[in-house]
Amino acid sequence: MNDDVESDGSAEQRDSKGLRKKQRREERSAAQEKERLTTKRTKKVRLVVLWGIPIVLVVLAGWAIVRSPKTNEGDNPQISRRGIHWHPEISITIKGERVTIPANIGVGGLKADTHTHNVNDRIHLEINRSVRERDTRLAKFFDTWSKEFNSQCIFESCNGEEGTVKMFVNGEENFDFENYLMKDGDRIEIRYE
Ligand SMILES: [Zn+2]
Repeated sequence: MNDDVESDGSAEQRDSKGLRKKQRREERSAAQEKERLTTKRTKKVRLVVLWGIPIVLVVLAGWAIVRSPKTNEGDNPQISRRGIHWHPEISITIKGERVTIPANIGVGGLKADTHTHNVNDRIHLEINRSVRERDTRLAKFFDTWSKEFNSQCIFESCNGEEGTVKMFVNGEENFDFENYLMKDGDRIEIRYE
């Protein structure tokens, strides 16, 4: 009986020892699994940082390019950052008579963006700052000169029985009139006939 109890007791002890061992083993493997998962997560985070930051930078750079001054005014884009100095030529003929374009239009205290230096010479489109497309409109020159020019009138001569306003740029008829965007070296002819 005693022997049985003893042996039972030691068997129990053995069992509980084994159980503890098993528990410890399970705990250890659970810890290992946890560590493995944590490492995996850390790797994932590292991967996201490694690729995510350059991707975000590329996207930001692209956005900056798209939003740059060249395009952010849609219908009036920047054509030069620092400025232009162009020389379009303008001739005006009314009923066969060539109009004299005076010297020094727009040359006063502050030189206007469009100005002349000599009689009947080319005009100077000289802008020493950021230039937008609309800064090159032909209307600018006539505004500086304080003269009327559009699809209806050149000076006091307006479309009607006496004639029609016509415009030619480099030999080709053009219908933009005062809205024409001048280019360097343009030969602009305005005729009323
Ligand atoms: Zn010039």
